[in-house]
Amino acid sequence: MLSHGIIQAAYVIAALLFIFSLRGLSNQESAKTGNIYGMIGMAIALIATIATLNGGLHWVIIAMVIGAAIGLYLAKKVEMTQMPELVALLHSFVGMAAVLVGFNSFLPLTSFVLSLPSHEVTVHLIEIFVGIFIGAVTFSGSIVAFGKLNGRISSKALSIPYKHYWNLAAIVVSIILMFVFVNTDDYTLALICLLVMTAIALVFGLHLVASIGGADMPVVISMLNSYSGWAAAAAGFMLSNDLLIVTGALVGSSGAILSYIMCKAMNRSFISVIAGGFGNKSKSASSEDEEQGEYRELQPAEVAQILKDARSVIIVPGYGMAVAQAQAAVSNITEKLRSMGVEVRFGIHPVAGRLPGHMNVLLAEAKVPYDIVLEMDEINDDFPETDVVWVIGANDTVNPAAAEDPNSPIAGMPVLEVWKAKNVIISKRSMNTGYAGVQNPLFFKENSYMLFGDAKDSVEKVLQNL
Ligand code: NDP
Repeated sequence: MLSHGIIQAAYVIAALLFIFSLRGLSNQESAKTGNIYGMIGMAIALIATIATLNGGLHWVIIAMVIGAAIGLYLAKKVEMTQMPELVALLHSFVGMAAVLVGFNSFLPLTSFVLSLPSHEVTVHLIEIFVGIFIGAVTFSGSIVAFGKLNGRISSKALSIPYKHYWNLAAIVVSIILMFVFVNTDDYTLALICLLVMTAIALVFGLHLVASIGGADMPVVISMLNSYSGWAAAAAGFMLSNDLLIVTGALVGSSGAILSYIMCKAMNRSFISVIAGGFGNKSKSASSEDEEQGEYRELQPAEVAQILKDARSVIIVPGYGMAVAQAQAAVSNITEKLRSMGVEVRFGIHPVAGRLPGHMNVLLAEAKVPYDIVLEMDEINDDFPETDVVWVIGANDTVNPAAAEDPNSPIAGMPVLEVWKAKNVIISKRSMNTGYAGVQNPLFFKENSYMLFGDAKDSVEKVLQNL
């Protein structure tokens, strides 16, 4: 066993490396170095923690081998488009770990320990109770997020009557249970309080995330990331492990900051999103199912002609481009159009795709030059002077209802104002809605044309016709 001093020093070094890692991850060029710092920090943390063990090493090794094998398999298999659901699943593991650590810290206690008039016991009991609560909320919330992201659960917001009162009741009852839990000498009663609270917290987490509509999912993911950090910090308190407290707090606060930034970018109220849609008026279904009029369809040869005749083109990619793996074809057609003297640029919405930066990474991989890939704020004013906008597999992020229909579930969210261009071509497979489940009036505008089919096929066919 290593001395206490060496282990503490290792923890400090690991914590510093985690901070460097977060700093590195804040921009694309340094992200790789940031990841490496994180990996070294985690290796040091693991070695130092294992060195504190008093036996049972073989169990730790068995668990690590199984965990590492599953992790490696998933990392190799998972598609870029599945990353958010994998992250949601991983958050649920952190939540579950906090719940298990909590019960594991409570079960060895006895009625005698509970009756000791010591502050330490009281603080420890509060740590256990709060840790299990946060862990259970994170666990069930992340499972629902996982289901919503991979389409097994509807992405629409669940709206049960008096939902905010139910949430409030869950919190009030949990606080009362905590009061009883901390003050009773009766072990069985304490255990019952803990079990009832765990059940309430599981339902609470489930309801909290189910109440949030598809368009707000990016914020939910970073919010659950934050919760998982606080759950880890709570586990750190229960285990008296300083590194876990620091790491948990880093994840918790960086997740909270990211959620706040995303809420601002999407013009959402932070409080409303973290409180499961609190303050959202129930939106009318007008924008969802109503007949919106007629749409016009074009064939690839006609699209090729329109693009050839254009002086300026803006391509707006979305989730569909990622699913169809159309980025290479998009890159080829960009090159072709540019060689024909057409100005081609890209407009990227901050939440296009299924994770922040999704489109930028795909386009960079396909070797689209950085300088023609612009963020929403940089390009939104240029649409009125643009001849053709080609929307490839995007939907919610170009929905005019966000700007024009105050009753739409996505009202107020900034969108790429593509409809202001002279012509808009929309490549998708059908008239289906996007992730937020909202119908898109863009498809029925007079200057809009649908090009139906898989994004990769469509782009390749247009390229052949150029
Ligand atoms: P959307 O989900 O709004 O729309 C994508 C469109 O792509 C669909 O309407 C679909 O239409 C089409 N599509 C799917 N597969 C294909 C294919 N193979 N070929 C052609 N088209 C295809 O995507 P956006 O990128 O516009 O918006 C992102 C949405 O996801 C927002 O609602 C956002 O809030 C949410 N979100 C974003 C996250 C983030 O961090 N960026 C995380 C979680 C959710 P059809 O079926 O007709 O083909």
